[in-house]
Amino acid sequence: MTQIIEDSLFGYSVVLAPKRMQRPHVESSEKCPFCPGHEFETPATILQYPETGTWRIRSFANKYPIVDDSSAHLAGRQEVVVETPVHDRRFHDMSKEEMARVVLFISKRLNSLYKDRRFVWSTWFKNQGPLAGASVNHAHSQLVSLGFIPKAIREAQARARNYYKTTRQCLLCDRAQKKRALSENAFFKLIVHPAGRLPWQMQIIPRAHAALFDVGRMEVAEALADLIRRALHALLQIDQNVSYNLVLHNGTSKSHDRYHWSLDIVPRLAQMAGLEWATGLYVQPLSPQQAFDTLHNLIRGKNE
Ligand SMILES: [Zn+2]
Ligand SMILES: [Zn+2]
Repeated sequence: MTQIIEDSLFGYSVVLAPKRMQRPHVESSEKCPFCPGHEFETPATILQYPETGTWRIRSFANKYPIVDDSSAHLAGRQEVVVETPVHDRRFHDMSKEEMARVVLFISKRLNSLYKDRRFVWSTWFKNQGPLAGASVNHAHSQLVSLGFIPKAIREAQARARNYYKTTRQCLLCDRAQKKRALSENAFFKLIVHPAGRLPWQMQIIPRAHAALFDVGRMEVAEALADLIRRALHALLQIDQNVSYNLVLHNGTSKSHDRYHWSLDIVPRLAQMAGLEWATGLYVQPLSPQQAFDTLHNLIRGKNE
């Protein structure tokens, strides 16, 4: 049963998820539940690509969910998307087309979850590498849907509304216009995160205002995959073993007016230390300009 504890002094929220303790840590392909032939070890397939025959992408309920639907007022569900049948093919090694297929798959699943009336907010995230929290090596993403809106997201939505009230502009439309692009195309812009909590943090913002993540068609999925690949390939040049998270900051159907979705690319090359725990202040050793100069050179060098 989902249970949330709020710290009475500092106000942050903790989700109790005892099932997570049972998660196996899988590195080799021999015992991998995500490899073809081991489908019986996971819950039943929800969606697969292609829809018939041998799967190349497959989703199912998370066996060790952080949230579940056993509590009416804190309902949630968590799904795993296995992105490739090949055990050691990492997300950042995929071709643009291959990654775009994953992005389209995610979008299709999210569109189904948006329609599920038990939930008010859904998102996509990905943990790659041990420092990003991945417990299974095989490339996979996760989808989370909640029947409640977490406090941090309610506050972000309120800030987006207030920004609009003061400036008559959307905060992220404004950010996308003002920040220099590391790379861009007709649909998206890749920038250095203006307030990155960790070094080399980047953000992808859709050019068209939209609260909910929905790539819809292959051309748009390829445009997004292209920028994700450029960002990840730049990080791999900084550290070839980089762990990273991809995190979708998604809106809710109710925030269609002012919220604007974005995708954060968060390299895990630094850890939270004592000062962060003590003060809530994140120590960023790189200025946005320094990060821009280095990443821009790496992206330009790689792609020209
Ligand atoms: Zn595997
Ligand atoms: Zn906008």
